[in-house]
Amino acid sequence: MSPDNARPDALRPDATGPRAPLSRPGGSPGARRFRRAVVTGGAGFLGSHLCERLLDDGTEVVCLDNFLTGTPANVAHLLPRPDFHLVRCDLSEFVHVPGDVDLVLHFASPASPRDYLEYPIHTLKVGSLGTLHALGLAAEKNARFVLASTSEVYGDPLLHPQPETYWGNVNPIGPRGVYDEAKRFSEALVTAYRHARGLDTGIVRIFNTYGPRTRPDDGRAIPAFVCAALRGEPLKVHGDGSQTRSICYVDDTVAGVLSLARSEHSGPVNIGNPDEMSVLELARRIVDLTGSASPIEFGERPVDDPTTRRPDITLARELLGWEPRVHWRDGLGTTIAWFADQPGVRGAA
Ligand code: NAD
Repeated sequence: MSPDNARPDALRPDATGPRAPLSRPGGSPGARRFRRAVVTGGAGFLGSHLCERLLDDGTEVVCLDNFLTGTPANVAHLLPRPDFHLVRCDLSEFVHVPGDVDLVLHFASPASPRDYLEYPIHTLKVGSLGTLHALGLAAEKNARFVLASTSEVYGDPLLHPQPETYWGNVNPIGPRGVYDEAKRFSEALVTAYRHARGLDTGIVRIFNTYGPRTRPDDGRAIPAFVCAALRGEPLKVHGDGSQTRSICYVDDTVAGVLSLARSEHSGPVNIGNPDEMSVLELARRIVDLTGSASPIEFGERPVDDPTTRRPDITLARELLGWEPRVHWRDGLGTTIAWFADQPGVRGAA
């Protein structure tokens, strides 16, 4: 799909007129409103939800994406809105956005293990050159910059749960190194721009997030389990399924990211749901919620697959007043309903 306005010339640099000062509404100390935001990776899973939320809050949005792992279909419903602009571009090559911008959310990067194993060099490039270009854009526009970092910077953690002060346990030459190290480099780059150039930056370390618009084939546990259950196929659990994950519904993650964006804080701040469950438990819950007769099967654990994963969100609670609100039962229910509506997903279950 190649929408008509997925071209640089679809940008309307003067659409917003001269830049108005950021407002800090009373009753919400430090909270800002943005007039015009750039969302890199905006046609991806998280990016598309962020674009939608920003537009609903009255922010004009320029969405930059090369559609490597995302798709214009994720934002097709936003295209008729005059304050939404979709531009196809590769962040690793170049980025130019005419007109004022007061927020850059840098979300462009393959994110699922299947994707970054398929695109290892691309992942390293977008995490390094792409982040450099996105930072350059924010510096040129004097905009707030927020990096989507990840719980993967903690690697296979030796400390549990993981606070932001933990430096991580990452294998740089393991298969996940391309993603983990790209994000760790991104964090270092953002910090350098903050200190050396005085850029207004924030880093959010996002833990496993799920919800509508994840790709059925992206290899992550929830889409894979839900699609298998809906099709009546076996759910394939890695190892014995005792490894844990903490899953956060997308609306909660988006609220956390925007809380950090609107604050004065630099982070890094963990955003995730501390409600930890084993992968086997997750599979069983999905089988129950779908009413599927699918069996659960066990296979090999991928190399460097983290054994435990659970955010310590004390900082997000204290600094941002944020915590997740959506119970897994509701979040999974909405996600299952969305997948069930996708062509080709619903099977014999
Ligand atoms: P996604 O793959 O759905 O979205 C990423 C988007 O970036 C895609 O639309 C892709 O086409 C785009 N992109 C990739 N390389 C690009 C490039 N060079 N130029 C322009 N666009 C490019 O993944 P997601 O789950 O939405 O993740 C978004 C961001 O959040 C990523 O940076 C990821 O590391 C981070 N994150 C996500 C999770 C999660 O659970 N979903 C957890 C931690 C961190």
